[in-house]
Amino acid sequence: MPAAETGFDQVLGFTVPGRNARGRVVRLGPVLDRILTAHAYPTPIRHLLAEALVLTVLMGALLKDDDGQLTVQAQTEGGIVDLLVCDYRAGAVRGYVRHDAKRLSALGANPSLYALFGKAYLAITFDLATSGQRYQGIVPLEGASLAAACESYFAQSEQVPTLIRVGVRSSPQGCIAGGLLVQHLPEGEEGRERLHVRMDHPDWEHVAAIAGSLRHDELVDPALSLEALLWRLFHEESEVRIDPGAALERGCRCSIEHYQAVLSRFAAADLDEMRDETGTISVDCAFCSRIFAIPV
Ligand SMILES: [Zn+2]
Repeated sequence: MPAAETGFDQVLGFTVPGRNARGRVVRLGPVLDRILTAHAYPTPIRHLLAEALVLTVLMGALLKDDDGQLTVQAQTEGGIVDLLVCDYRAGAVRGYVRHDAKRLSALGANPSLYALFGKAYLAITFDLATSGQRYQGIVPLEGASLAAACESYFAQSEQVPTLIRVGVRSSPQGCIAGGLLVQHLPEGEEGRERLHVRMDHPDWEHVAAIAGSLRHDELVDPALSLEALLWRLFHEESEVRIDPGAALERGCRCSIEHYQAVLSRFAAADLDEMRDETGTISVDCAFCSRIFAIPV
């Protein structure tokens, strides 16, 4: 165990070499509050976004490319939630949810995923900065949770057995959300060339049973460090390697300079269309709930 243990807002990577398993674990605290307080979301939407942000960090932390980006987008037509977007790049995480507040208020305190989205799809996109490659998997947003849909993404699109657990706890002091992702990569294989996914490998069955025993309250317990959490799960294994990952921050690329650069690629006639009566162009950053007046 390292001397300084990990509490909030940092990812830990881990591998269990004897089982060919690897994973990521995270607990979001102040960073999550900074993201949520940019919006005045009702509780079910805060919970949904908190879960989505944990998943985004867990999957983003799988990128080997430090400047790569992971984007999670859930979309539907006519749902109470019609769009959810989160992304992760180099430890910077952000997200927002577009929803119909009036219809949501009729749902009660704990709406199901289906009640929120209806028939929806989840798109997971990995953008690799160094090679410029992009790969995207799209799965139906089914099952009980966003985490379950992400598990099916890994099974269907990447052929990698994956277990994900997420816990969210809100209190007047703030919101805490934690998550664990663990995968089976036999013989260290990390490529995408597998033809079928094998869920019944004895090593994977063992790891999945152990990781599946993790309770939501352990994920969100600030008194339990992430190292202690992994120790609880895997202390009977001959070896568990831990790699401290990125420190997390609430990150957005919106700035007047950024939007000026984007708008500079538009034709003059299009820019004229966008101007208001004072001659400025307003751009809305949905991630920050902020409107920027861009002098162009
Ligand atoms: Zn922004």
